[in-house]
Amino acid sequence: MARNYSPVFTEATPSEPVPSVRFSELGLSEGMQATLEAIGYTEPTPIQSATLPVALAGRDVIGQAQTGSGKTAAFAIPVLERLDGSRSEVQALVLCPTRELAAQVEAEFERLAKGSGFGVLTVVGGDPIHRQMEGLKRKPAVVVGTPGRILDHLQRKTLTLRSIRFAVLDEADRMLDMGFAPDVERILQQTPRERQTMLFSATVPGWIHRLVERHMRDPQTISVSGQAELVDTVSQWCIECSWADKVEALSLLLDSPRVTCGLIFTATKRNADMLHTVLLGRGYDVTVLHGDLSQHDRDLALKKFRDSKVRFLIATDVAARGIDIDDISHVINYDVPGSPEDYIHRVGRTARAGRDGVALTLITPIEILKIRDIEKHTRRAIERHTLEDLQQLAGTVSAVVG
Ligand code: AMP
Repeated sequence: MARNYSPVFTEATPSEPVPSVRFSELGLSEGMQATLEAIGYTEPTPIQSATLPVALAGRDVIGQAQTGSGKTAAFAIPVLERLDGSRSEVQALVLCPTRELAAQVEAEFERLAKGSGFGVLTVVGGDPIHRQMEGLKRKPAVVVGTPGRILDHLQRKTLTLRSIRFAVLDEADRMLDMGFAPDVERILQQTPRERQTMLFSATVPGWIHRLVERHMRDPQTISVSGQAELVDTVSQWCIECSWADKVEALSLLLDSPRVTCGLIFTATKRNADMLHTVLLGRGYDVTVLHGDLSQHDRDLALKKFRDSKVRFLIATDVAARGIDIDDISHVINYDVPGSPEDYIHRVGRTARAGRDGVALTLITPIEILKIRDIEKHTRRAIERHTLEDLQQLAGTVSAVVG
């Protein structure tokens, strides 16, 4: 039977105002208010304004929000406020699609949990399992993890979810993309039904509808921007060239001194590796991040980029998902993103925290349709240039790239 899910997923229109609240109006504990002040969160972000009152009241929440919107605190604050200090057991489980995102979620939890006495542990693949087992024995109140490793611990009986009161699914659509859907279901089935569940996802594909039906209770949908939106401070350009000329066009862009911190996206891991080799050969200061690298290499690549030890980072969509770096000056789509949503995700890595940013997309002539699709979806024009424009402007290329 076809179901009408629209009441569950009512999308806010972009013009719909987000009711704004102050942290002081939310009935937060004194400890939490002091922590927020200490870390400089003076007012809630839109997703926090909309989510906190609902989640603090104990209701299930579906949040449509991107990394960078402050969504982690939108679920971490209610979880931390509602944990029971008298219990020495795992009370909250946060599932994340990638190790990078899990690390960021853990960091935000730890920042917000300071002084509360609640322990937070990250349990992800790639890290030594025995150390995680030791950590789990200490019964941290919050466990953040990737589905595969969480299941591993459940099978080894080094983790039980019987005491879970809060379950958070972060970036649920990416968990689906990465093939974690069955794992997520198996994990949720092992948690008590009377838990509070919060699900965050940029898109809501069919699996998520079904997941909501099966595992959530009367959730409130919160969509602060209807769908992901591009911020006004990002300039967008596309450069048309043949497939064979792409590296040449990219080199011209990277030669601009304005590209101080450039994130370059490829469609596949293979393209990422290929481009990495080619750019290194051309003498560029570049590293690469994708899912086939070891955890150590991924951490290292991200750290070098974050610490400005390397100027360019090549990444695939999934690997770049959790990148939370405020000063990326340029996002360059070496390969056109697979969908307008992916474009928005990628471009959302630049122009953060009120800064300016530039998004550059290399396209072959037949890909112009994809650009039109993105323009339609985002309701923003992308300025068109050609390789010849770039070559002519080679000396003054900075004028082209922002
Ligand atoms: P997130 O979307 O959770 O990855 O958060 C993006 C960034 O915003 C992180 O660096 C957070 O520390 C920061 N952030 C979250 N909430 C606030 C707030 N209310 N005020 C200022 N910064 C915030």
